[in-house]
Amino acid sequence: MDEERRLAKNKLISLSKKETLLRHENMVTKTYEVKIQENKLRKRQREDIERIFLEAKWYKNYILNWMNESKDNKLSKFNTKQTEITKKDKDMNDVAVEIKRLPAQSRQCLISRMVANLRTMAALRKRGLQKSGKLKFSKEETAIDYKQIGNSHKIINKKRIRLQGIKGDLLVNGLEQFYNIPGVEVANARLLHRATGYFVQFVCFLPKACSQEQPGEEKKIVGVDFGCSTAFTLSTGEKIQATVPESERLKRVQRDLSRKQKGSKNRVRAVWKVRKEHQKITNRKNDMANKIVRNLTKNYLVIIQDEQLASWHKGNHSKAVQYGVLGRVKAKLKQHSNVIVLPKNYPTTKLCTKCGRWHDELKLWNRTFKCQCGVEEDRDVHATQNMIWLYEHLKVGTEHTKLTRVEMESLVKGIIHSNGQTPSVKHEAASL
Ligand SMILES: [Zn+2]
Repeated sequence: MDEERRLAKNKLISLSKKETLLRHENMVTKTYEVKIQENKLRKRQREDIERIFLEAKWYKNYILNWMNESKDNKLSKFNTKQTEITKKDKDMNDVAVEIKRLPAQSRQCLISRMVANLRTMAALRKRGLQKSGKLKFSKEETAIDYKQIGNSHKIINKKRIRLQGIKGDLLVNGLEQFYNIPGVEVANARLLHRATGYFVQFVCFLPKACSQEQPGEEKKIVGVDFGCSTAFTLSTGEKIQATVPESERLKRVQRDLSRKQKGSKNRVRAVWKVRKEHQKITNRKNDMANKIVRNLTKNYLVIIQDEQLASWHKGNHSKAVQYGVLGRVKAKLKQHSNVIVLPKNYPTTKLCTKCGRWHDELKLWNRTFKCQCGVEEDRDVHATQNMIWLYEHLKVGTEHTKLTRVEMESLVKGIIHSNGQTPSVKHEAASL
């Protein structure tokens, strides 16, 4: 009987999971970050938080040690109910410790994260990008996951939250970002230890309609191209620089760090100073990205193209990418309801929409787009104008996304023909 009841219960859970997934499909995901008011922490709470991060480190290292002991010890076989573990002291002797604060679900999340890391490493090693396939012992853990809203974490009111393993309410700043949004669903959370304090990230699902602005007057359309050297270009011809330079202070604290002796307390202090500086730069970048996104989406219907930013990290563009905020802007734009993302296979750079020629010979370093039909313009501006043209003539999110090169060519040619602009030359060149 009990077995039957258990199965019925499992079925119910999987059903409601499916429902939730379906519901979330029509929603927008957003991550909000709140800061724990450290000066309002009680002594006991501060100890709890510090203990949680410590326990996470011990736990992870204990599992790694256990995995090293035998080949049969696989992550999936680790008994997550076990709370009596050992840690190494200074002289590498085992000391028994008990997991008291780190919640069971967070422990499971920690293991899933390890599994995910192992998978990524294995994939990288396969491609020859990385030598080792082993996880390293960690000196500290800086993120704790909370999986189940209402159980592992709660939002009490506009100012207070509760996290499993920490006694009492925590006062936080920043909940107003999402607390009052109608229809918002809070999902998992993550407690972070940063040089600038303790933070909690909340993953939220918002109804699409609510993040959309009222359909009033029609918005102007703008195409945005994310170049790497000139930051980004608008179809209006405007070019916007978006970089946050490395601060002088960062250089200084990094220099200080390099002079500190390994294993010394001064070195630990210097590491945190460097982190704090990095955090400040990250904050500046986020701020800049937010402003750019807000300005664009407030005034325009924005069209961008999905492409891989990651490949730019190689080669001499790396510095520009590192200091830039393009990755952030793009990620934020992609989530926005006022933004249309063109698929990768749309010919935004190579097509001449006046005559229908394809310019495959155009290289990344060619900064001007030139066509035999007389069109000559800045490469990036040309791309953004093509984005608008393609958006207006092809449908996004339909079968067009899967068109091959040849099919795309004939489709585009057909459109240009029917627009009454007869291509001046035959298109043999296109097959090159
Ligand atoms: Zn042309």
